[in-house]
Amino acid sequence: MIAVPSPSGQTATDLPTGPTPGEWSAAVAAIEAVPPGGRVLLLCHVNPDGDALGSMLGFGLGLCRLGGRSVQATFSGSQDLPPSLQGMPGAELLVPPDQSWTDPDLVLCFDVAAASRLGPLAERMDSPTAIVVDHHASNTRFGGIHLVDPGAAATSVVVDRLLERLGVPLDEQIAECLYIALVTDTGSFRFDMTTPAVHELAARLLATGIRPAEISRRVFDSRPFGAVRLFGAVLQRSVLEPAAAGGRGLVWTYATLADLETYRQPPYVLEALIDSVRCTVEADVSCVLKQVTQTSWAVSMRSKGGVDVSQVAVSLGGGGHRLAAGFTGAGSVEEIVAAIRARLD
Ligand code: AMP
Ligand code: MN
Ligand code: MN
Repeated sequence: MIAVPSPSGQTATDLPTGPTPGEWSAAVAAIEAVPPGGRVLLLCHVNPDGDALGSMLGFGLGLCRLGGRSVQATFSGSQDLPPSLQGMPGAELLVPPDQSWTDPDLVLCFDVAAASRLGPLAERMDSPTAIVVDHHASNTRFGGIHLVDPGAAATSVVVDRLLERLGVPLDEQIAECLYIALVTDTGSFRFDMTTPAVHELAARLLATGIRPAEISRRVFDSRPFGAVRLFGAVLQRSVLEPAAAGGRGLVWTYATLADLETYRQPPYVLEALIDSVRCTVEADVSCVLKQVTQTSWAVSMRSKGGVDVSQVAVSLGGGGHRLAAGFTGAGSVEEIVAAIRARLD
């Protein structure tokens, strides 16, 4: 039972940016038009984070509650989820991409700013009814129907509104998925877009009975000892450039495949590294390069507000938000940092 009533409306901050009434009704109509026994395919971005996976599975469980449709959830690339995201409610909906339906009745994607973030699954969105559920300002408007709200702190905020429009009440399992998504993208309610509406959603999610301390420990505060030592080595080689970004300061570091080998760690442990680097008070911009192959690096960028890092990321082929963005860089560490430095100045 939901003890806290749903918020009466949107806050002033997220009013102007959300989907139009026409977009909402098109999305609801497309979902309701799926015939009895129809198949709905859910997608999220490669290397899913808590928002991508939580939004997708939370919505998937909501569709299951409506009944009458079969649901699959999938994503391209490595199917190894970090332990922090394993065993999320709705994980039983996950299938490997090569076993997912090629001709479903409806496709939705979650937390995907550009079709390229879907990998080879991008072509499944080539339909006038394919629904994009997202909150990236840089969203390229691929697909057919757009539920994109750059004023939403997480894609799960948009999922909550969609479930409400479909008449699906929150339950503990759906709430756990949406909560993981919300705490991931708000940095546990510390970041910029933590509006009153975010706390109202959190209140409704908690009211279902989910256990926030347990979820936070699992999602944020669990790391193998080898990863603790790896972080030590990588942080030790951080470089501070106070004059960069027009004097606002840049701090950066990198982690190689050899580092992972030395400390016997899988790549996903590096996802949290940026949070240790971005604490640096002397720098507005922080940056972590994570080696993917001999010549390619997954780059994470953060800003404290002085710089729009999504512009830097987009200009280098990536995307993201004003204060958190990323791209895939080719070349040496020094070449990639030079490209970032040049765009920051
Ligand atoms: P991360 O640094 O991986 O946590 O990503 C921060 C933000 O940047 C997220 O909102 C991502 O959607 C976005 N992002 C990261 N990598 C890429 C990429 N290669 N292409 C587009 N967007 C990205
Ligand atoms: Mn994401
Ligand atoms: Mn997100």
